[in-house]
Amino acid sequence: MRELVLASGNAGKLRELAEMLVPLGIVLHPQTSFAVSEAEEPFHTFIENALTKARHAARSTGLPALADDSGLCVNALGGAPGVQSARYAGEPRSDARNNQQLVATLAEFADKSAYYYSICVLVRHADDPQPIIADGSWHGQICADPRGSHGFGYDPHFWLPELGKTAAELLPAEKNTRSHRGLAMRALLQKLMEVK
Ligand code: IMP
Repeated sequence: MRELVLASGNAGKLRELAEMLVPLGIVLHPQTSFAVSEAEEPFHTFIENALTKARHAARSTGLPALADDSGLCVNALGGAPGVQSARYAGEPRSDARNNQQLVATLAEFADKSAYYYSICVLVRHADDPQPIIADGSWHGQICADPRGSHGFGYDPHFWLPELGKTAAELLPAEKNTRSHRGLAMRALLQKLMEVK
């Protein structure tokens, strides 16, 4: 498997995932390169959305497909925005508006704890009966004042007390060693190598 299509047009995800696949000689193409339409994500769980996106990209391109469905889960908000993270403040999607809404909503809560969750799914073909699946979580706190210019999405507000930095202050390689997506991808690649 030397080429994979990423079932997403999210540039931040593409950057992070492609970087992790370089050492394995695997090239990751965004589905936008093949003019694949965005799959619907109507489900309430990350796994259902990830699997649907991966199958849709594989079916449209004929290539093996990788999907990451991920989001920010805030404990005081009962896990929101969760699967709705990309469109928390509605359409059109905007990281800036999502972040504003998050900070405003959380202002009245003392508990600022949150975690990122990612589930990565690899299908070798559209009807693959045995997708390879792995997940990962990354715990932190939501801070009101944004810091840092790396990463994407909620990263400027995702505070890591043990580092004294937000996720947006981490260089890409450092984020990958710690992040939900990095954990999920490393576990997925390990499983891939064990497949007979
Ligand atoms: P998806 O494309 O439907 O999986 O939505 C993912 C959304 O979750 C992104 O658009 C971000 O809002 C949020 N998210 C997931 N992972 C990260 C991350 O590593 N940093 C910042 N935001 C993230």
